[in-house]
Amino acid sequence: MLHIYNTLTHTKEKFQPYHKGSVRMYVCGMTVYDFCHLGHARVMIVFDIVQRWLRNIGFRVEYVRNITDIDDKIIKRSLELKKDISDITNFYISAMHADERALWVNSPNKEPRATHYVDHMIEMIQQLEKKGLAYHAENGDVNFKVRSFPSYGKLSRKDLDSLRSGERVPVASDKHDPLDFVLWKHSKENDPDDSKWNSCYGIGRPGWHIECSAMSHSILGLPIDIHGGGPDLIFPHHENEIAQTEGVYGGVFSHNWMHCGPLMVNDYKMSKSLNNYCTIREAIGYGNLSNDEYCVNTREAEMLRFFIVRNHYRSKQNYVIDNLIDAQSSLDKLYSAIINFQFDSDYCVDWSDPSATEFAEAMNDDFNTPKAVAILFDLASKANRDNCVRSARQLKSLSSILGLLNQDPENYFKSNTRYGSGSIKSVYLSDEDVELLVLKRSQAKKNLDYKESDYIRNLLKESGIEVEDLPNYSTRWRRF
Ligand SMILES: [Zn+2]
Repeated sequence: MLHIYNTLTHTKEKFQPYHKGSVRMYVCGMTVYDFCHLGHARVMIVFDIVQRWLRNIGFRVEYVRNITDIDDKIIKRSLELKKDISDITNFYISAMHADERALWVNSPNKEPRATHYVDHMIEMIQQLEKKGLAYHAENGDVNFKVRSFPSYGKLSRKDLDSLRSGERVPVASDKHDPLDFVLWKHSKENDPDDSKWNSCYGIGRPGWHIECSAMSHSILGLPIDIHGGGPDLIFPHHENEIAQTEGVYGGVFSHNWMHCGPLMVNDYKMSKSLNNYCTIREAIGYGNLSNDEYCVNTREAEMLRFFIVRNHYRSKQNYVIDNLIDAQSSLDKLYSAIINFQFDSDYCVDWSDPSATEFAEAMNDDFNTPKAVAILFDLASKANRDNCVRSARQLKSLSSILGLLNQDPENYFKSNTRYGSGSIKSVYLSDEDVELLVLKRSQAKKNLDYKESDYIRNLLKESGIEVEDLPNYSTRWRRF
């Protein structure tokens, strides 16, 4: 029996879809004005695992992940590039699909675009106004009246008064309350024509939050079983979605709210200003990066997937070089365990084997993929130790449920990687990677953690890098 942690109740709950045997899942998707980054990769892969497992245990799954194709950032980009909005959004949608394919992410059943549902959004806004939950502001916007929705804050467990006292910005004159949010935004004169819709509220465009409420309702109806997304969507986006949907239709919007944990880069939240921003294609591609099809380093692409899958989806995950090196060598071990065996093409899981029972128990416990991956390593050991084809086959078939071990092992090992430890692979440590490791080693030395500093020194040595210590903890490095 599957149990899933629910952000709304802060507990693991027995999962029972509203309609027996079929699951309706909505996940907030990308705003398509740039290439997808590593945080997007985590959302894509986490909910891919969720849909794969739900299907594996016999549910029909209707998985919807929307595309936000109208938004301030898209408008800004359209004005900057003097291009039609659809040219920009179509380009980045193709790029997103190429990223998904590269990471073995199975597509959702539907990917609605916000611009196709504007009429439904306007209808919902009218309903909210009728119910006293929305008002027409002086500047031409229509806002949601947060104070009039009594359960506002139930998902994020925020109390309106404390939220308000934490509010440092002065109340915008067009809002009755600083927490009120935009449902319909009036157009500015120089906004591009393709960002404008006619409505009873004048010419404008929908706010971001109402897009998801309308698309979800329109395609999946109510209630849905799982609503998911990244961790920064809990507040205000999902809180606002609940207020809008339950404000219009009453009842429950979604029985379960699933959020993955944050993906950090080098211990920090990823941001362009911190210079640690990384797109999926920068992480796994080489060459020809501007196209919707690009050259993927399949070994690193699967390493990225494995890196995400082997962590629990709710945990904080740190994209940092030593974690990547470890992920790559671990994945190499799994491939090594199957390389000497030949399988029929229709290998499938032997569910009578205890390894499969344990695997299912782990996955049914709130998608405990770290445990599931540990079972794969047990099978790899058995396959190696006893030269056991049954274990190898079971390893291959259970891995495929997680979208892992997709490649022919020989081809996999022919692909280069920056994250290996052998002398041939080592040349692929970039200058930035080396700088980072040297810095980490210096930090370890400062902390008197000589075990760690020696480990990094050896790692660098294996990669053809020599580090020289200078006074005052400074260092100099060179390739040899
Ligand atoms: Zn959303």
